[in-house]
Amino acid sequence: MQPFMKPVSDLFPILSEPRNIVITFHQKPDGDAMGSGLGLYNFLIQFGHQVTVVSPTNWASFLSWMPGAPKVLDFEMQNAKAITALNNANWLFCLDFNTLSRVKKMEAVVEKLACTKILIDHHQQPQTEAFDFGISNTGKSSTAEMVYDFIIASGHDAMINKEIAECLYAGVMTDTGSFRFKSTTADVHKMVARLKETQMDHSQVHENLFDNFQEGRFRFFGHVLLNCMQVFYEYNTALIVIPQKDLIKFNVKTGDTEGLVNFPLSIKGIKLAAVIIDRGDERKSSFRSKGGFDVNTFARTYFNGGGHFNAAGGKNAEPLEEVVAKFKKAIEDNKIALNEVI
Ligand code: 5GP
Ligand code: MN
Repeated sequence: MQPFMKPVSDLFPILSEPRNIVITFHQKPDGDAMGSGLGLYNFLIQFGHQVTVVSPTNWASFLSWMPGAPKVLDFEMQNAKAITALNNANWLFCLDFNTLSRVKKMEAVVEKLACTKILIDHHQQPQTEAFDFGISNTGKSSTAEMVYDFIIASGHDAMINKEIAECLYAGVMTDTGSFRFKSTTADVHKMVARLKETQMDHSQVHENLFDNFQEGRFRFFGHVLLNCMQVFYEYNTALIVIPQKDLIKFNVKTGDTEGLVNFPLSIKGIKLAAVIIDRGDERKSSFRSKGGFDVNTFARTYFNGGGHFNAAGGKNAEPLEEVVAKFKKAIEDNKIALNEVI
């Protein structure tokens, strides 16, 4: 391991030498984690590498249409197979996370691996000492965009096919809020233009990701917005608290709560939106902000988490009521900053 990661460009001259490669990403992968991982998978298999994608946990069913997804191993459910793949790996690509704790139970296994570890990520404060090679760029819209940059910089533009395009488009689209956030640069649109040259059907990708839910998810959202949301106008903040019994009652599945945190941000004047969910083994929080309020620091300071300036998350071991009390204290501590936000 190196104190500083060597540049990924050092790998380009040896990219086509056959290897065992494992690609992983953060637990409970979102569209960018799965999309960047499978985009890279569909690129690397073209060289004849033995490539295995390992997810630290299960994932939302609306990600399972992606090319290559049926072959992804769930570390928790297919543990022996996943460990064999990890132990045999020459290279391990770690995508869309900054600290090893983001791979949950896989962390202990990954730490012990002697293989070459490569980070490609856009989160703040990366744990660079844990990786041999890597690129961390918080200015990038998504890890999918960084995988695209990796392919282009390696000189293999011609290998971008429809499969890669669908995965990378899904990643960049989800992480930019459908090309809405400020991170959507001219480069992002140029990348999408290039992906469209593969005949990728972007409308179908949107449909696969956003129009694939069960009715129960919307009934659950209705319940939550009506009964579980508090608005603190003096702090320009809205909070949704979901007890575990509601997850059980509405049969909430992995991925069903994705996007919920964005709803309160559409209330006029709200600059900070939060969701705290009691998942049983931990209390998971999600934070989103508009403008100048830094939720990465907020999540790190109070909720053992992190992420980006305007989107972050965390987890706590304390009971739900204590985490909620902590949140209320945290917004009081940040009252001035929350009121300063333009
Ligand atoms: P979400 O709220 O969608 O779970 O996460 C928002 C962002 O914060 C994502 O970029 C995610 O990777 C990051 N994030 C979420 N939870 C955690 C956490 O517990 N620790 C860290 N370091 N980042 C997190
Ligand atoms: Mn991402």
